[in-house]
Amino acid sequence: MSIAQQAPPHIRAISAYVPGKPITELAREFDLDPASIVKLASNENPRGMSPLAGAAVEEALGGVGLYPDQFELVAKLAENLGVGRDQIVLGSGSNDILDLTARAFLQAGCSAVSAQYAFPIYPIATLTAGGENIVVPAKHYGHDLEAMRAAIRSDTRLIWIANPNNPTGTFLSYAEVHRFMEAVPSDVLVMLDEAYNEYLAPADRAESVVWIKEFPNLIIARTFSKVYGLAGLRVGFGVASAEVADLLNRIRMPFNVNNLALAGAYAALDDHRFLAESYDINRQGMEQLVAGCKRLGLEHIPSHANFVAVNVGDAQGINQKLLRQGVIVRPVSMPGFLRVTIGLPHENTRFLDALEKALHG
Ligand SMILES: *Cc1c(COP(=O)(O)O)cnc(C)c1O
Repeated sequence: MSIAQQAPPHIRAISAYVPGKPITELAREFDLDPASIVKLASNENPRGMSPLAGAAVEEALGGVGLYPDQFELVAKLAENLGVGRDQIVLGSGSNDILDLTARAFLQAGCSAVSAQYAFPIYPIATLTAGGENIVVPAKHYGHDLEAMRAAIRSDTRLIWIANPNNPTGTFLSYAEVHRFMEAVPSDVLVMLDEAYNEYLAPADRAESVVWIKEFPNLIIARTFSKVYGLAGLRVGFGVASAEVADLLNRIRMPFNVNNLALAGAYAALDDHRFLAESYDINRQGMEQLVAGCKRLGLEHIPSHANFVAVNVGDAQGINQKLLRQGVIVRPVSMPGFLRVTIGLPHENTRFLDALEKALHG
């Protein structure tokens, strides 16, 4: 018998998360110059990190001999969000927060509800914690909140909501999410994953954190990986009622966010100019990509984030043809679709040209 057989069945049943292909890997596979490759596959900020964050990270380098202290970043987030410091949980990316939440609230015999075409980490986190996945069919590619509420069973402890959702880019209005919170039993925790919150148009935006007072069973996850441009540093956070945050803080590894990530995130919060410019570039890039796809006669799912899912038909085949041209996008679970991260204008053009060749060449 192999040693792997000794792991519990719920662990052996997990399929690994498939990340966007790294530039270095594609360069090796097709013998391409890494500098010629365009990666629009992981919803990173195409401008890289905020300059303020970069300077702070360099300065923090001198301190890496010491274990990190989370106090300053926690205090700043709490102040910005108008919550207590005891309501913040820092994570090694918000993926860490998702995993901690599942481990804190699920065990064998429990279930969690998520949507079809939602972020693939949700089922992985649920299974890792020993829980059962209840997957609710999507409605127009987005979350069907009515059906998700109806799917709650007596053993359900957690509901996963991504807003905007990845990989679809679909968005639930704050009124819909609030109504959902009112309908969900107060003994079921709702994880509201807002990784793309900063990309929402001002008219769509509301501060969901204020609802935590009304709903102690709500936890919100946000990240520095997307608009803040710090994906490689790995830092995100959760905001919850003090009692929920306390549970997560008890089981997280004490030094789960490193010194450089703490310093970079702290500085990035103040780089309002970088955030505003990144938002504008994303809006313009979205228009460019959507117009380009329409010109090619392709349907897309209207997106509220920094990526767009495009129906290209033979997604596998088109993806291979794009890779050969040095363009990395992301295959996703919706049949026929590829997900494209909004890049800088010349990257979007590269993608559209490559896509046209892949379709007609
Ligand atoms: C990118 C993303 C995250 C954040 O991941 P990090 O671990 O913070 O890098 C979380 N949720 C969704 C839906 C995402 O797309």
